[in-house]
This record gives sequence, structure tokens and C-alpha cells, in this order.
Amino acid sequence: MKIVKAFYKTTRWLKKRERILRRDEYLCQECKRFGKSTTAQTVHHIHPLEDHPEYGYENWNLISLCNPCHGSMHDRTTDELTEIGKRWKERASPPLVENSN
Ligand SMILES: [Zn+2]
Repeated sequence: MKIVKAFYKTTRWLKKRERILRRDEYLCQECKRFGKSTTAQTVHHIHPLEDHPEYGYENWNLISLCNPCHGSMHDRTTDELTEIGKRWKERASPPLVENSN
């Protein structure tokens, strides 16, 4: 968890986070699925950073969420992804062509 905390303070992440929020028009992407417009406050790693640090800055692995939705992706006690979190994970996978670097 220590590495993860440091990650969120890096300039690179803060810039990436801002770019993802802009991409998602500052709207929670989970609420959007249900036709609701909620301001996003958090950018979520679909594949958790702890499991896949290499996906830390990948656009396809990042979504904007409101705080309640972000809370519903993670199990507070076990720190594991919840069913909703896992569903996003099933839909997000690395693009097949991105193997050049
Ligand atoms: Zn939401």
C-alpha cells in the first residue's frame, strides 16, 4: 500500500488524472450507465494498481467515478474489488496492438 500512496502524489499521475476527468467530461462513468449525470471526483484504476502497476497510466484502465461509485468498486475491509469492480475489469483489457514499447 505504501507504493500506491506515493503514486497518487506524483505529478505524472496528477496530470493523467486531470486528462482522464476531462476525457470523461467530469462525469461518473458508472452513474452514466444508468443515465445519471454525476460529477466525478475520482479516477479509478479498473485493474488495481497493486496488481498491475504497469497499467497505472493506461487510458483504457482508468475511469472517472463519483465518490459513492468509487466506494462501491472496492471492498473496504478486504481491499479487493467488489462484483461491480470486477465487472468493469472484465470489460477492460489491454489493446492488442499496444506492444511496441
Ligand atoms: Zn457514480
